[in-house]
Amino acid sequence: APLRRVSIIGSGNWGSAIAKIVGSNTPNFEEFENEVRMYVYEEIVNGRKLTEIINTEHENVKYLPGHKLPHNIVAVPDVVTAVEDADVLIFVIPHQFIKNTCKALKGKIKSTAVGISLIKGFDIAEGGGIALISHIIRDELNIPVSVLMGANLAPEVADEKFCETTIGCRDNEVGKMYRNLMQTNYFRVVVVDDVEAVEVCGALKNIVACGAGFVDGLGYGDNTKAAIIRLGLMEMIKFCEVFYPGSKLGTFFESCGVADLITTCYGGRNRRVSEAFVKTGKTILELEKEMLNGQKLQGPYSAAEVNYMLKNKNMEDRFPLFTAIHRICIGEIPPTQMIECIRNHPEHM
Ligand code: NAD
Ligand code: 13P
Ligand code: CA
Repeated sequence: APLRRVSIIGSGNWGSAIAKIVGSNTPNFEEFENEVRMYVYEEIVNGRKLTEIINTEHENVKYLPGHKLPHNIVAVPDVVTAVEDADVLIFVIPHQFIKNTCKALKGKIKSTAVGISLIKGFDIAEGGGIALISHIIRDELNIPVSVLMGANLAPEVADEKFCETTIGCRDNEVGKMYRNLMQTNYFRVVVVDDVEAVEVCGALKNIVACGAGFVDGLGYGDNTKAAIIRLGLMEMIKFCEVFYPGSKLGTFFESCGVADLITTCYGGRNRRVSEAFVKTGKTILELEKEMLNGQKLQGPYSAAEVNYMLKNKNMEDRFPLFTAIHRICIGEIPPTQMIECIRNHPEHM
């Protein structure tokens, strides 16, 4: 069989960490072509093109400084060139940019290609609902799209600190191929077939992480944060029951579920910026620019997207935590209301 060519679409904090893994794996398997092209959204860093820095220093000095990338990772500034002849497409850009990126790729990829989305978030859909990112990719590019979500803070993964992850994939053979491509001795992969629930977990936990940041900013303790995490988990489960019926409860016990929720509520960017939001009174947008050096938040946007649907369906009060977090993010209610929300949560009534 011909070798599979792999391309990575994205090169941020997580994109670069996953490039390190994939680039170290392709030489170990006959089935993959060793070279992996990585689409880099071009920018000038210290007077040089970021693609040129990556291809000479083998380091993404802006988004994952201090970690060398394997030399078979090749940075490409044009997204269409980056996916040319690719059989396996790994999507890992902030969800804000997926629609435009898919538009650029439409009609440009192999009809036999398969995709996997590492993107945590939703998009809003016509008719008042939301769309899964993997479905947007699938529908735009006409390829099957799996997902990978887990308790995977990128800097820790890049440091090769042990973690687990979850791949949601319906095809057994393809699932095995993804595991070969992504698993290492410090990054352990479990493949499940409950694809939608895996993706929904990854998107919703970022909203809960904002709530965790708010209570940190207000000066509450670990017990309060645990309440946020528990009530957030209850709303995540209910969200799947209502909007993605057929999802399995067991999926919440995979890395993509409780584990990712916990790590993000302690160590994530959404938590950190949300804490600063309470302490400084600046807007989320200002803080994202000030604190993240070009990295992007997903939680506040996901909260808005979820709220767009809940409001449309008149279901805001069935998801009071998600609703309060969105209202706090946009400045509609003060962060102190977070506590009122969990005090009066329907779980307590
Ligand atoms: P990031 O937050 O580092 O975002 C910055 C990236 O966005 C850079 O590569 C930048 O060049 C790119 N970018 C900026 N403007 C763009 C545009 N107009 N079009 C295309 N790209 C543009 O990105 P990340 O951390 O790699 O996150 C990607 C996805 O992975 C997100 O959905 C995130 O939730 C998820 N994720 C992140 C982590 C993590 O710890 N960072 C872990 C797991 C999952
Ligand atoms: P943050 O985007 O909040 O840093 O979360 C990263 C993540 O998804 C860890 O699994
Ligand atoms: Ca190989």
